[in-house]
Amino acid sequence: MNCPCGTGKAYDACCGRFHAGRPAPTAAQLMRSRYSAFVLRLDDYLRDTWHPGSCPGGPLTDEDTQWLELVVEDAFAGKAWDQEGVVQFVARYRDADGEGAIRERSRFVLEDGRWLYVDGVQLPA
Ligand SMILES: [Zn+2]
Repeated sequence: MNCPCGTGKAYDACCGRFHAGRPAPTAAQLMRSRYSAFVLRLDDYLRDTWHPGSCPGGPLTDEDTQWLELVVEDAFAGKAWDQEGVVQFVARYRDADGEGAIRERSRFVLEDGRWLYVDGVQLPA
């Protein structure tokens, strides 16, 4: 299967490695793997990669949202030698109200060798 994040790579050679437990080396790769986790409804992975200070309780994915496409627009820092990173993306989806899109600038931090999603600022889609 092609990876849901849209790299064109096989799932096992892309986000599948990170879902299986390997740390994502960059914030942008973590962000892609989290998008794929939303597509595949991997709540445990989303919780494990969400900073405990900002992760909401309850289910993180829902059956009614179908994720259609991810476009990573920009990434600042977030490399192996950084402690923080920012990734801006657009994610298109379809739900009961039709098609929509989220444009977000997400903040990530590196803790104990693992990138974690902290929070994001929504931008006009
Ligand atoms: Zn991927």
